[in-house]
Amino acid sequence: MSSPIDLHSHSIVSDGTLSPTQLVEHAAARGVRVLALTDHDDLGGLDEAAEAAKAHNISFINGVEISVSWHQRTIHIVGLKITPTYAPLTQGLNALRSGRHARAERIAAELDAVGIHGSLEGAYRHAQRSIISRSHFARFLVEAGHAKNVAAVFKKYLVKGKPGYQEHQWTGLEEAVNWITGSGGVAVLAHPGRYDLGRTNMTTLLAEFRAAGGAAIEVVTGSHTPEQYGHFAQLAHQFGFKASLGSDYHGPGHAYMDMGRLPGLPANCVPVWQGWEEVEGLQ
Ligand code: AMP
Ligand code: MN
Ligand code: MN
Ligand code: MN
Repeated sequence: MSSPIDLHSHSIVSDGTLSPTQLVEHAAARGVRVLALTDHDDLGGLDEAAEAAKAHNISFINGVEISVSWHQRTIHIVGLKITPTYAPLTQGLNALRSGRHARAERIAAELDAVGIHGSLEGAYRHAQRSIISRSHFARFLVEAGHAKNVAAVFKKYLVKGKPGYQEHQWTGLEEAVNWITGSGGVAVLAHPGRYDLGRTNMTTLLAEFRAAGGAAIEVVTGSHTPEQYGHFAQLAHQFGFKASLGSDYHGPGHAYMDMGRLPGLPANCVPVWQGWEEVEGLQ
């Protein structure tokens, strides 16, 4: 049985391909009953999604996915049940977004140097309502014939050691957690299995995240294998984190998983939604 809960998804406000309304319609069609929209570094889709959710009998959760630099790595912190008007959060995200344009110029300059021209304009064509991100460069690179799909782009370009990768300073772990918890939300470490950390570094990250006020980690996500569900359920238990669940859906045809396909959490998990009124009566 797939879970009716999905606490990680993207719309066209960041690097998804569906509008917030279309995303909610898709969620409803896939059997999702509790949905969080968690666009990267931007809260601009929440009102529209909340409105659409009412019409589809979906309980909607205000969310965000914040880009963080941690020891020269990029990690993502999801905020759930945030208050979208909380000034430190909105101002922090404004500053975070403003760094993206300069980074996009650096990415484009590097692609130029390997003979791929016009990528800045090309990426922005895919980012008309949104932040500019590597996903938009990836779509341009597919369109221009440099890779067969977005997943293939992220093997040849835009990642460490490959053309178009640029180190970037996002916000700090503590800042991101403080913006989220200060707004009344819950801070969740997104897809820990994607960071390619060894055991020691993962332990350090989890300890620092907990010390900063982090409350949960994603256990079941479109980015984890079933083996990783068990592994991160165990780590959540060991560190006293609650567990979250979300597809990380970005729209049809994107590299990540569709909605409505993930199983429920492993039995030894404490769900991040424990006690939430939005989830009452579901299970
Ligand atoms: P940015 O925040 O600009 O660094 O862009 C990161 C986004 O690129 C992520 O949120 C994903 O949507 C996308 N991305 C990164 N790595 C991959 C990958 N291996 N396959 C598909 N999409 C990816
Ligand atoms: Mn993304
Ligand atoms: Mn992410
Ligand atoms: Mn995501």
